[in-house]
Amino acid sequence: MKLKKGDLVKVILGKDKGKQAKIEKILPKNGKVLVTGVNQYKRHLKARAQGQSSEIVTITKPLSSQNVALICPHCKVQTRIGFKIEKNDKIRVCRKCDKKI
Ligand SMILES: [Zn+2]
Repeated sequence: MKLKKGDLVKVILGKDKGKQAKIEKILPKNGKVLVTGVNQYKRHLKARAQGQSSEIVTITKPLSSQNVALICPHCKVQTRIGFKIEKNDKIRVCRKCDKKI
């Protein structure tokens, strides 16, 4: 998984295509990411007990990491992530401006 929590991404596929938001959570096991305010669905919760009112809740579903592209914090454009080894550390770099992400 190349993406990290807190990364600013742009949705490139799906119903929220074009939206930009931050990654809230990474789900590496299934290659998905949870992006704030993206891929939201409304779910109607029926009252389970008498006297309880039913309500509509908004849930955010994770989406495939393939459906989002990173926005470079330096050059502010949609980019791809590259890797470099610096002082024995693997660092992420922007393929466009070559700066560390
Ligand atoms: Zn860049």
